[in-house]
Amino acid sequence: MSTGHLTIDLDAIAANWRSLDAQTASETAAVVKADAYGLGAGRVAAKLAAAGARSFCVAATEEGAAVRAAIGPGPAIYVFSGHMIGDTSLVRDNALTPLINSVDQMLRHVEALPGHPFGIQLDTGMNRLGLEPSEWSALRAIALDLKPALIMSHLACADEPSHPMNAQQLAAFVEMTADIDAPRSLSATGGILLGPDYHFDMTRPGVGLYGGAPFDAAIPVVTLDIPVIQTRDVAPGETVGYGNTFTATRPSRIATISAGYADGLHRALGNGLMVFSGDVACPVAGRVSMDLITVDITDLGHDPDTLTLLNARQGVDAVAAVGGTIGYEILTALGARYARSYAG
Ligand SMILES: *Cc1c(COP(=O)(O)O)cnc(C)c1O
Repeated sequence: MSTGHLTIDLDAIAANWRSLDAQTASETAAVVKADAYGLGAGRVAAKLAAAGARSFCVAATEEGAAVRAAIGPGPAIYVFSGHMIGDTSLVRDNALTPLINSVDQMLRHVEALPGHPFGIQLDTGMNRLGLEPSEWSALRAIALDLKPALIMSHLACADEPSHPMNAQQLAAFVEMTADIDAPRSLSATGGILLGPDYHFDMTRPGVGLYGGAPFDAAIPVVTLDIPVIQTRDVAPGETVGYGNTFTATRPSRIATISAGYADGLHRALGNGLMVFSGDVACPVAGRVSMDLITVDITDLGHDPDTLTLLNARQGVDAVAAVGGTIGYEILTALGARYARSYAG
């Protein structure tokens, strides 16, 4: 085995879904867009459907079709990008529920698929997707007559609980949906943690299911073990890797492991990333290259067969912090080259 090995703990994902579900009196959907944040939408959705999830969310209709194939008929699959040109047959054949974002999408949907379920996405200030308040005023009576399956919006700053944008968007959402007899949804992972005012009828966690911040109580989901290809002694004054950015200051032992930026381990991680042998943290030495990372294992005292980059000690957010990014990006970048196995 020469590639890295990614282990995805489906039981941990189900446990995270249950504990987010237990924080609200609302239904808890599961966001499985971007191939379940890189972890495998089919496997994840099937596991969560078995655990009791009755609604799933994806970004695009193509993703929705893959999720439908994995879970079969029954659960709702909401599509954040709505009903786009060319989507009609996928929406119909896979019983997807587009979340309508514009007047154009509304017209397209009712003309192409009259009677087919849809939801409404409202813009409450993020200015990314959804109907603006003025568009909603114009469309509201017609849309409500057609009994939308869901009316939702999305928070821009929910990972910062004290940000005034949260209350501002909540007030806008309440105002735009007052006196409406349809299920409402405002919150993703961060919004769940803001408390019951933000929960409405359904929540839509994604990253928290996969062990990421801001759900600090999440159970870790991914383990990434990378085989050591070669080890060598490096004398003081010798350098390691591209650009000679690491110079040995003592007699050193260097291990070369089989993963790099082509596997989603961004080049920026060369500055300070640790990999683990058991409980011992070993620093990356020199630049991350395309397929290889060099590690200073001098203090380990032996040559390991593998080193671990993601585990319970070092999750996606800790790795992200080294690279100046967020756990979401580390997860969704996890490479196609890893051997993958699922636990649970
Ligand atoms: C991605 C997304 C979610 C899930 O967000 P997390 O922060 O991963 O929980 C929910 N709703 C919408 C509209 C999204 O785009």
